[in-house]
Amino acid sequence: MDMFALWLLIAVAVGLGWVIGHHQRLAFSEEHSGSSDSGGEHPLALSYLFEAFDSPTVDSFVEQLEITERSAPLYLAIANYYRKQGDLERSTLIHQKLLGESIIQDKLASQVTFELSQDYMAAGLYDRAESVLTGLLKDDDWHERSLLGLLEIYERERDWLVAREKALTLGSRKNKRINRRAAQYCCELAEAELRRSKRTNARDLAKEALSIDKTCARASLLLARVEVETSNYQAALNVLKQIEHQDASYVVESLDLAQECCTQLDQREKFRRILDYVWERQPSSKVLIKSAEVIAQLESTREATEYLQSKLDEFPSLAGLKVLIELLIPVADPEPKRWIRVVKGVMENILHQEPTYRCENCGFAGHTLHWQCPSCRQWAAVKPLLWT
Ligand SMILES: [Zn+2]
Repeated sequence: MDMFALWLLIAVAVGLGWVIGHHQRLAFSEEHSGSSDSGGEHPLALSYLFEAFDSPTVDSFVEQLEITERSAPLYLAIANYYRKQGDLERSTLIHQKLLGESIIQDKLASQVTFELSQDYMAAGLYDRAESVLTGLLKDDDWHERSLLGLLEIYERERDWLVAREKALTLGSRKNKRINRRAAQYCCELAEAELRRSKRTNARDLAKEALSIDKTCARASLLLARVEVETSNYQAALNVLKQIEHQDASYVVESLDLAQECCTQLDQREKFRRILDYVWERQPSSKVLIKSAEVIAQLESTREATEYLQSKLDEFPSLAGLKVLIELLIPVADPEPKRWIRVVKGVMENILHQEPTYRCENCGFAGHTLHWQCPSCRQWAAVKPLLWT
């Protein structure tokens, strides 16, 4: 096939793909208004191009296509498509080639440089990505994206000290996205200090996190933990009260600490009032179970059983049913007791397979509260599931 016919075919494939993709993107954007990628991407159009032609053919097309201001978005889209497919060598080569062109240096250098940093990031070449992004910080239009890219590098390297320092020195104090991250870095450092039993340092870091982002529920949980570990139970309860206003979805995470504080202060009735308060605003398996436990301690097993039965009518819950069975075992006759134990074992198995946390951004689910989602890497997106 001669070169003219090849170009014609490619042009038709890209054109057709773009038209179809454009219409589909319009339909998509009506459902998801405001979401768009940077970098002149036409992913669906390009998928038609790559389905129709193999990589060497596209390479040949890319090599012969003149680099102009108009063709640059197509170059960027092809390179980004390669990156998404994991072909980092090709995407890097295209971005490097673009940066060698004077027309790009004049008008699109920052955008192409940023894309090159993303190639390095995807390849795990963090030193190169850091160098490129640091150079890009001086461009006001790319400052925030570059800083977020740099922070992502330090996050991946778990270098929380540098991440905090860069976020605080390079980010604007008014930038909530950066502040939320800086607070999380302080929390990471505070947790490390707690693991080393350096409670004063952990307290200072948790307070620093709250001074940077007063909505950081993780910092309040940490500060309360420090107060509990230093026997300041009333102070811990005062800190835990803030979580409702910071991020109510983490209130259930505060209940173990609140229970310990009330027990140490010999105020079990107070803990029951806390549970009632939380239940009224946010019923959950955990509150149901803890309420039954407290009623059993303060009143009797029978009262706790009746409480659970009444609540389970309205809020059926496997975890609640399991506690009800546990309460019934000691008072059951020998034969039913045997069967109740079998049912309890089956329910424990089922419950073990149910996740207790889920990322509200990507759906990642598990049994651990990750403050940074291991899948989508968003902070404070993994939330406790209220019902199991
Ligand atoms: Zn996620």
